Amino acid sequence: MLSLAPLFFGFAMRSPTTIHTTMGAAVGVQRSAGVQLSGLPIDCKGKVAFVAGVADSSGYGWSIVKHLAAAGATVVVGTWPPVLGIFEKSLKSGKLDEDLILPDGTKMDPPKIYALDATFDYPEDVPEDVKTNKRYAGVGSYTISEVADQVAKDYGKIDILVHSLANGPEVQKPLMQVSRNGYLAASSASAYSMVSLAQKFGPHMNKGGAILALSFVAAERVVPGYGGGMSSAKSQLESDMRVLSFELGRAYGLRINTISAGALKSRAASAIGGARGEKTYIEYCIDYSEANAPLQRTLEADDVGAAAAFLCSPLAAAITGVNLYVDNGIQVMAASIDAASFQGYKFSYPFDTPGMPK
Ligand code: NAD
Repeated sequence: MLSLAPLFFGFAMRSPTTIHTTMGAAVGVQRSAGVQLSGLPIDCKGKVAFVAGVADSSGYGWSIVKHLAAAGATVVVGTWPPVLGIFEKSLKSGKLDEDLILPDGTKMDPPKIYALDATFDYPEDVPEDVKTNKRYAGVGSYTISEVADQVAKDYGKIDILVHSLANGPEVQKPLMQVSRNGYLAASSASAYSMVSLAQKFGPHMNKGGAILALSFVAAERVVPGYGGGMSSAKSQLESDMRVLSFELGRAYGLRINTISAGALKSRAASAIGGARGEKTYIEYCIDYSEANAPLQRTLEADDVGAAAAFLCSPLAAAITGVNLYVDNGIQVMAASIDAASFQGYKFSYPFDTPGMPK
């Protein structure tokens, strides 16, 4: 019987324009050449997009921003108040200038930033200690309903809404140890936030518009180490996406999909586990994927950015209720070929196939 392996994804950390590092422990992993937007155009000219969950250039949100901008959309972002100051400072100081360069060589304008805490729906939901917290005081309105109204005031109806955020305070704890509060906090920040964004932005979106959220294979299969109820939250996210595809389609003519993304060394993922200076949990995940995925290439944030731009564009006008894997195919594997239990077994590949490089 084959040993079932935790199913993960391929990956290496990269900013949208620069590969900073690669973990590729697997032999023969190719760094991908980057996604070029040419030929059949992804055309989002004249569209307005709101991307929730952007605070630096290392994560999926930033690449989605860039790809939507490259496709011609006006893109604005929602940033969590605790990291808003540092993000604004990075943009102002020019630290992210290189990351603003689009595939055609032009530099995009830094996106307009709205403070957003996706765990609060209305101003009356915000507890006193948060209101008076120095990272929240003075950033203006940041609940989902207020941000949706403000974006509508600034831009009128928008066309694209992206949910690229997650938070699980007990992510390091297995489900057998997670507290009720930790579990519900993960669900509130990582799943209900998408439902609430859809509720509040839906009426402010043009017919034919698209919503997208980022999921992870832990929604469907066991990924040891991804704890705190985050796997539960991702399952909710995918299930809610399917239900909302019907409700939003009928109510507003909107589409909604999820991308189940492979492992990426983003800031959030780097916080999952591992002491400073030690190999982190996400780096193990990336190495695992590169060793076992069908495609021997490094997954980049841009792979997800490009797929997101497609799903949000008119090219995907008939696609709704879909979970799209962008993960070098790792989710199809039920056995890991580099498992210790397989050591010594001689697999019959690489295949001796005509044309296959030796
Ligand atoms: P990231 O750090 O770039 O993005 C996470 C963002 O969520 C951060 O900007 C953070 O400030 C924001 N956030 C946290 N709590 C918030 C709140 N209450 N309100 C508003 N914003 C809040 O990391 P990422 O890994 O690119 O994550 C983006 C999405 O991709 C998440 O949904 C994540 O689960 C998903 N994803 C990541 C991976 C991976 O390996 N990195 C794999 C699959 C899916």
